[in-house]
Amino acid sequence: MKKKAVVVFSGGQDSTTCLFWALQQFDEVEAVTFNYNQRHSLEIECAAAITKELGVKHTVLDMSLLNQLAPNALTRNDIEITQEEGALPSTFVDGRNLLFLSFAAVMAKQMDAKHIVTGVCETDFSGYPDCRDVFIKSLNVTLNLAMDYPFVIHTPLMWIDKAETWKLADDLGALEFVKEKTLTCYNGIMGDGCGACPACHLRKSGYDIYMKRKGVNV
Ligand SMILES: [Zn+2]
Repeated sequence: MKKKAVVVFSGGQDSTTCLFWALQQFDEVEAVTFNYNQRHSLEIECAAAITKELGVKHTVLDMSLLNQLAPNALTRNDIEITQEEGALPSTFVDGRNLLFLSFAAVMAKQMDAKHIVTGVCETDFSGYPDCRDVFIKSLNVTLNLAMDYPFVIHTPLMWIDKAETWKLADDLGALEFVKEKTLTCYNGIMGDGCGACPACHLRKSGYDIYMKRKGVNV
């Protein structure tokens, strides 16, 4: 029987690495992107371009209701991205992964896919409770009970840091692809980004650490 997977896909570094990982692990892979009026519609375009290039079927689901529920810096242009020491960043949306993974599961069951892949990570834990491994395991049980279906949620990035995520992309033969074609920057600049926002800092420091480990000067 063919193994099918749905990848929760944003077009960023993490989920693109997960997409390459899934393409290696499963016979059939589809990607789902959630549109919740991200700051940059470029994110959706970027996700569409990546899946097109990789020949992966791509579905964009409208989740604009998230903005109605929880106005925050990711979805509202009038709120600045800030992070106080030890507090959740203003990009936080309560329950976002809970909602996204639940919708992904509904979609996955319809296409006979047992496997759901998400790039959540506990290592770079920025305080998002629904990125924790214990939450994912709990949700996995809940989804199986809710839909009477043997889902398996895969989190290839759960215990690795940003440098190791770059290594994973490299091992999958996708380092350049991920570096050039993904969008992580909060200011909507593809590839290496603006270089100044928190997402760019995290991405670059991980890349530099990995290059150093690899013995490459950057
Ligand atoms: Zn940036």
